[in-house]
Amino acid sequence: MEYQGSSDFVHLHSHTLYSMLDGVASPAQYAEACYKRKYQAMAITEHGHMASVPEAYAAFKQYGIKYIPGCEIYYNDFELKRQELLASGINVRSQEWRKENPELAGRIIRNRHLTVICKNKTGFENLLKLTTQAYETGLFGVSIKQYNRIWFEKLCEYREGLIILSGCLNGPVSHELRTKSIVNKAGDVIREISRKERLENAIANIKKFKEAFGEDYYIELQMPGVEGDMFVFQTSIMLAEHFKIKTVLANDSHYMERKDFQIQKIMMAIAQDVTVDSPDLFHTNSDEQYFKQRSELWSRYNGTEYSKGYTAREFELMCDHTLEIADKCENIEFDTDPKIPTIVDADNELRRLVASKLISLGLHKNELKYLIDGREVTYLDQAKIELNRFIEKGFASYFLITKNIIEYGKEQGWPFTARGSAGGSLICYLLNITSVDPLSWGLSFDRFLAPSRGGYMLNVKMTKGD
Ligand SMILES: [Zn+2]
Ligand SMILES: [Zn+2]
Repeated sequence: MEYQGSSDFVHLHSHTLYSMLDGVASPAQYAEACYKRKYQAMAITEHGHMASVPEAYAAFKQYGIKYIPGCEIYYNDFELKRQELLASGINVRSQEWRKENPELAGRIIRNRHLTVICKNKTGFENLLKLTTQAYETGLFGVSIKQYNRIWFEKLCEYREGLIILSGCLNGPVSHELRTKSIVNKAGDVIREISRKERLENAIANIKKFKEAFGEDYYIELQMPGVEGDMFVFQTSIMLAEHFKIKTVLANDSHYMERKDFQIQKIMMAIAQDVTVDSPDLFHTNSDEQYFKQRSELWSRYNGTEYSKGYTAREFELMCDHTLEIADKCENIEFDTDPKIPTIVDADNELRRLVASKLISLGLHKNELKYLIDGREVTYLDQAKIELNRFIEKGFASYFLITKNIIEYGKEQGWPFTARGSAGGSLICYLLNITSVDPLSWGLSFDRFLAPSRGGYMLNVKMTKGD
């Protein structure tokens, strides 16, 4: 049956390239696709951080589409317990402790995912605080990868302005519903979990969130086509109806088109340091997480196991609720001007550093002439040209800070340097920000900072190796 319903839909759970080797599409691609489909709004929810906000904000603003910031946070109900154990000297990573406490170890170690989106500026500021503070207090991982985890009490502390969707198949509710047994690290089943217990655990979670977030808590539904998702989908609708919580359909988009699934799989393999066909590759193995339209979601729902016992009405509601949530969210305006801390007397400090470096190079070096940007210059001439231009455009503090960052990186022994057009700046070279003498190599300074350039921010690109 051809879908006759509305084409309106708001994607509220989506990943971009910023989701660290787990997303293929750029914010600009999503924004353009939303524009073509006449969508009103979209939320971007990276894994654990909000680094895509500036780029996504600019991309959606260009098309006049409401951009809703959000995050798929790493969530763990046992994080406080872990911190308590840590304070009493217990290392939950140790083999011995894990062996003695397999069930608790599993709960402490494995993270859940929770979709959090911002209703307004307060919500945005709260989510920034949550994700940032989690790096300081909730950072945990058993492998080399560490996750900034947030727990229920912490989330509640900053709940104002936030909307919670119950999460993907790895969300606190879904996970309880589909976990049939407790397995230890070696893969041995420690105990089976009855259907009754699974339901009770899921309900306990739902009640807790409903009580804390009220009308701003929604049951998230997804149809990725992975093991157990039909049971989760069906049971979640039933629980939502029972507890009078609205459902919301999400597609957890990771890429634009179905075929891009292959790229995402390769990225996941790179992230996990295994080959694409390795049995150890952890991946959803579903090519359904592309940027779907409402009619495509309908095709996946209609006449399949997902909709067994339900009708078109449930589908329309879970789609319409995406529009309701988007309406609840304000069009947040951001001040995108760069905020560079101002260093007292930065202009003179920059002059002093450059002068002392030139003096240390000696007179013979300063007498040599080079042809740069069509001008014949000595070190001193070029340093003056650059100093005047940096100071006139108000970048002195920026250079002093950049110098500090580079010095810190080098002290730490990181393979670390600046690259790109900053290589054309003699001052960057003299301050040890770059390591190539631009005059000896005839590199253009104007390419880095042309006199005609407006006041917009300069950037020295830096790359840190592992
Ligand atoms: Zn997830
Ligand atoms: Zn996701």
